[in-house]
Amino acid sequence: MTELTAGPALPVPILPEPRLQEDLWPRLRALVHGRRVAVLTGAGISTESGIPDYRGAGTRKRARAPIPFREFIASAEGRQRYWARAMLGWARMDAARPNAGHLAVKELESVCELVGLITQNVDRLHHKAGSEDVVELHGSLFEVKCLECGFREPRNDLQERLRALTPGFENQTLLVIGSSLEVYSGFCVARAAARADRNLAVINLGPTRADDICTLKIEARAGRALKRLIDVRRA
Ligand SMILES: [Zn+2]
Repeated sequence: MTELTAGPALPVPILPEPRLQEDLWPRLRALVHGRRVAVLTGAGISTESGIPDYRGAGTRKRARAPIPFREFIASAEGRQRYWARAMLGWARMDAARPNAGHLAVKELESVCELVGLITQNVDRLHHKAGSEDVVELHGSLFEVKCLECGFREPRNDLQERLRALTPGFENQTLLVIGSSLEVYSGFCVARAAARADRNLAVINLGPTRADDICTLKIEARAGRALKRLIDVRRA
């Protein structure tokens, strides 16, 4: 097995940890040491690697809901929405490193007979930690299959093609100036940009409907703010 270290510290929500119930640990040890053990892991093991958990405690407010598989299969629009997001999220997923939890699961093999490792996660972090024969209950993001002909390829190959097809995609920003976005049509435009993972910057004096979904909010009068923006560019 290659030497692996836990990944770099990524921003994760700090949650109060309940007091460890010391009396339970000997019982758990007795259930694991020297026995045949199967392990099932979920999203919680990967949050410390910076992979967001859509359901758990500390999920950010208004986290984007995943696109359901049924919707992905049924509609071209659903697939478009999925890939628009997935393309941007991929670099982070690809770069994620296993954390102490994944490494500990691998190490369990030294105290018990690990007869199976099943994961609900699609992040391949158990593989990266050196575990073998991982059953991926929900599949994996690291391989893609064509819905029409069944052709399979590594996700990274697809990423390269997607990037070649959409130059500049990651550079797009919607700049909202001097609007509270109270009028629905305006809000719709902003929300669509945020949903497509465009950067959304808002310059407005006072709250706006997009305060929770924008990338950046600057409380300022339009004229002054824009002058500063342009002056900075010249400098
Ligand atoms: Zn095909």
